[in-house]
Amino acid sequence: MAGFRTHITVSGACGIAYGGFAVQPLGFNTEAGLLAAGVTAVGGMLPDLDSDSGIPVRELFGLAAAVIPLMLVRRLMHAGVSPEGILATLLFAYVFIRYFVSNLFKQLSVHRGMYHSIPAMLVAGLCVYLAYHSPDRTIRMMLACGVMLGFLSHLILDEVYSVDWRGVKPKLKASAGSAVKFGSSSLPATATCYLILGGLLYLAYLDLKKSGTDLGF
Ligand SMILES: [Zn+2]
Repeated sequence: MAGFRTHITVSGACGIAYGGFAVQPLGFNTEAGLLAAGVTAVGGMLPDLDSDSGIPVRELFGLAAAVIPLMLVRRLMHAGVSPEGILATLLFAYVFIRYFVSNLFKQLSVHRGMYHSIPAMLVAGLCVYLAYHSPDRTIRMMLACGVMLGFLSHLILDEVYSVDWRGVKPKLKASAGSAVKFGSSSLPATATCYLILGGLLYLAYLDLKKSGTDLGF
């Protein structure tokens, strides 16, 4: 299994490439390109939110607790929430994610369970797409693709590391096939993952229908 540093190095490199690609030739502005690079790099850390302990996971939850509420700011402003209301939401969301959600994660997750899977990657992409409010749908899609790219780099890397290259013939380790997958051996975990995916797809569909009429604003 690839370590945290390997993952962040690879997804960081993917992020730089992807951010550059977003600016030229896709034509997004530099700030959007930088954001895309960051989102891609973070995407590469997400699957290991399921690993039991350690600084990376705590670090990630600290980051998620700060960034996820910030991504909601535009949405809250759009909904007419007062500045005080927005600040209060940010604070509560921080505490909620940092302590409550991270504990829940610890209880529920199995390492190399459904967090390491293709549907989980789609869930991450849809979350970014839905959370980020912008009149320009292409930037939301671009960011969603970024987080999925980072996520995928993680899954592929974990698979690459499950091949034992020592010896004449490469052998597969027991962990092979446990990262790039569509379902795990746990039916409840697999079902939950697909339920979340279905729910998010439905929300994205509603969002698409709505923004078809008022251009997303
Ligand atoms: Zn992993």
